[in-house]
Amino acid sequence: MQYAPTYTRRTQMPNPLSDIEAKTERGERITPEDGLRLFASDDLVTIGRMANQIRERKNGNHAYYILNHHIDYSNICVLACKFCAFAKRPGEDGGFFHDQDYYLEKLSEDLREGITEVHIVGGLHPTLPFSYYTDLIQGIKQLSQQIHVKAFTAVEIDFFARLYKMPVTETLEQLRAAGLDSMPGGGAEIFAPEVYDQICKEKMGGERWLEIHRIAHQMKFKTNATMLYGHVEKPHHRIDHMEQLRRLQDETGGFLSFIPLAFNPENTELAHLGWTSGQDDLKTLAISRIYLDNFDHIKSYWITSGLGIAQLGLSFGADDIHGTVREENITHMAGAKVPQILTVPDLKRLIAEAGREAHQRDSLYNILN
Ligand code: SF4
Repeated sequence: MQYAPTYTRRTQMPNPLSDIEAKTERGERITPEDGLRLFASDDLVTIGRMANQIRERKNGNHAYYILNHHIDYSNICVLACKFCAFAKRPGEDGGFFHDQDYYLEKLSEDLREGITEVHIVGGLHPTLPFSYYTDLIQGIKQLSQQIHVKAFTAVEIDFFARLYKMPVTETLEQLRAAGLDSMPGGGAEIFAPEVYDQICKEKMGGERWLEIHRIAHQMKFKTNATMLYGHVEKPHHRIDHMEQLRRLQDETGGFLSFIPLAFNPENTELAHLGWTSGQDDLKTLAISRIYLDNFDHIKSYWITSGLGIAQLGLSFGADDIHGTVREENITHMAGAKVPQILTVPDLKRLIAEAGREAHQRDSLYNILN
């Protein structure tokens, strides 16, 4: 007898996220409860489709990259955050610090290759004078007035203000006088105090991070925002984090971009937690695009997520893939498996393979070519 296959008609399954998708299609803001439902769902395709629609509404088919240079000036730090593989206590083996000339020499080589931004962050060094930072920025501006200096997380600004006994406004004014143009978004971690207490108890806390960015925005600095995920936090902590950023952005409009940072565990006290999954990386990126409706740009940060996920991220809400970087230590000391440098052809190829149109941007997201 000949085998005759039988087929059953597949009924269309109802989409449990259809009410949220209807909101995003209408350009409406989703609620914290909606955000939690997205995190609870395994329907990555629907979540990605929503994020992609918003991403294309805001940025079309463009995907941005920047020619930049990272300076991690010292890993000597008075704190010992559990997720950090970069820092060394003062006097501990493996601590490094370089003077300004060391960095200016490296930077002058890169300036010839057309970089437009210097990104400066480091540990909380207890004995450097404030003039170390202002001289470094002034030295950079003497090399090129056009170069954009994006420097010092809110954690460093808070530390400078306390160490050098100045209000935050005075600290930022003096840095601006030296040439500071904008601030990066690091040090935010997860705002919820119960998470801060588990991973970086001695650090200043989420409320202070938000306060320093609020002050910076009131002083007309543009800044960026991050969220370190994939350690001890729960989905509701991530949503709370995004909610607080969305509120501050409503109030000030001072954020340029949001960058979800996947926790890289190697050589940290939290190594037993392991790496984030690709599923979680893409879902978190997509939900941040959906939730943060008042942020123009979401970054798929290749250094923490890896090149493959960063590239896929361009279809899951991200419109920016960061930049050439040149020399990154903070994440590489935590086991990042990516190179320390990407060339412009590398970045353009990553973007083109994702079906996007590559555009070089400056630090304020003006398109350069
Ligand atoms: S995360 Fe920053 S503040 Fe915390 S230990 Fe590392 S360098 Fe220091």
